[in-house]
Amino acid sequence: MLSLTIREVSAALREGGTSPTELCRKCLNRIKKTRHLNAYITVTEELALKQAQEAESRLLRGAPRGPLDGIPFAVKDNFCTENIRTTCASRMLKDYAPPYNATVVQKLLDQGAVLVGKTNMDEFAMGSGSTDGAFGPVSNPWSYAAPYREQAGSTADSDWVIAGGSSGGSAAAVASLTSYLALGSDTGGSTRNPGALCGVVALKPTYGLLSRHGLIPLVNSMDVPGIVTRSVSDAAIVLDVLQGLDIRDSTTIRAPPSLPELPEDFDAEKICVGIPKEYHSPGLSAETLAQWSRVADMFERAGARVEQVSLPHTQYSIVCYHVLCCAEVASNMARFDGLEYGHRSAVDSSTEAMYASTRHEGFNDVVRQRILCGNYFLLKQNYQHYFVKAQKVRRLIAEDFRRVFGSGVDVLLTPTTLSDAACYSDFTQEDNRTRSAQEDIFTQPVNVAGLPAVSVPIALSRRGLPIGLQLIGPSLQDKKLLSVARWIEQRVGFPSLHDYGDSSESNNDTGMTKREQTSTV
Ligand code: GLN
Repeated sequence: MLSLTIREVSAALREGGTSPTELCRKCLNRIKKTRHLNAYITVTEELALKQAQEAESRLLRGAPRGPLDGIPFAVKDNFCTENIRTTCASRMLKDYAPPYNATVVQKLLDQGAVLVGKTNMDEFAMGSGSTDGAFGPVSNPWSYAAPYREQAGSTADSDWVIAGGSSGGSAAAVASLTSYLALGSDTGGSTRNPGALCGVVALKPTYGLLSRHGLIPLVNSMDVPGIVTRSVSDAAIVLDVLQGLDIRDSTTIRAPPSLPELPEDFDAEKICVGIPKEYHSPGLSAETLAQWSRVADMFERAGARVEQVSLPHTQYSIVCYHVLCCAEVASNMARFDGLEYGHRSAVDSSTEAMYASTRHEGFNDVVRQRILCGNYFLLKQNYQHYFVKAQKVRRLIAEDFRRVFGSGVDVLLTPTTLSDAACYSDFTQEDNRTRSAQEDIFTQPVNVAGLPAVSVPIALSRRGLPIGLQLIGPSLQDKKLLSVARWIEQRVGFPSLHDYGDSSESNNDTGMTKREQTSTV
């Protein structure tokens, strides 16, 4: 039951094959058995059972609210949830319980979906590994599955691999079958990156299509709520529920009239698939490159036009993102001053000393570093040279995409990440942090330009770990993008963890110890 898609389990609920409370208990039980993954910061057991009970009475009355009624879901811990702590995986907010729900959370609850918990992440969503949060790192469920274990041989602590980030907990939750869907956030790739590394579908919608109200901001001009599911059709169901204008977020746009179902008759012969030549990036693994070529060939054999295209400003995207990200982070984080909410230091010799030590104690060094950089970029004497210049480069990057899509290309096919997931011990070494910034090369330009993109799981690597590919589309063509993604999904036959038994339940005590050691709250 747990390995079904939303579509399948929703049918089972209606036909009486299971009930919302049974489903909810199964998920909660599975969360307990997969605690070693550290995917959840908070499990909302009591509330989930109450919501499941309510869904059950609606179903019994024959009045379900929609396809998500009674379906368990998880939410990244940077979306506000009413009276449920929302920590951003930071000491700064470790006891913060917001008085309201983020719009996207409220929309899922209004549909009768059942909240099972809040997922782990990098602190304030800054990172690509889910290794930097105050609650310790998330591990990739595929670390404990047979294909990887057979290759890795031992069960040594250093062998487990990262889940990707920053929404690593959400991707791990869906991949390890503890929830049917999860919300992530995507500012530079944070939903797609862990989606690719954990072998699940990860959609980053067009900027403004989903409300950001109640999503604790990282980079307001790039943040979007992301959708993590086990199938492309499930992502379409959730997108339908979440999209649309929100009076509380002035950047939201009216959703284009959407199809309730993806068209079954997608015709590959009619599309033009672009392959950006600049994405043949240094560091791209031979295996990921081979999968990229394989899928491009698949399109060609099906009669699609596959063309090499150029996005000439790609090389500036990482630095452009960095400047804009840090500048927005510096102003966003100013609200955490120890006065209104969140952590307050005991140091009270002066107001300045209280501010300084609150922020020193509350933030990790990744966050502090970005605040310092951002304030530097925004200094009067630097503003033109850094911030304004980065805004101009942003425009050039967006123009690259517009030109390509204007020339008849329907979708771009690219890798999502450079390779499969790294081992925790390798990733957390200094030089690999630089590598992690480099890793965002395929995902960040999409946020800079505000476009929709989806990562689809394609194959397992020789190490037994998932490899994903990304499709990028023109603004507001999210549904068309999903149709193309489903075409790929139907042809690649990516396995579910379930195909390897309950291996991700195998309790790895050494992994647990490591994560407990790294937790700073
Ligand atoms: N890796 C990027 C960063 O650290 C992505 C962040 C995100 O999408 N939330 O900023």
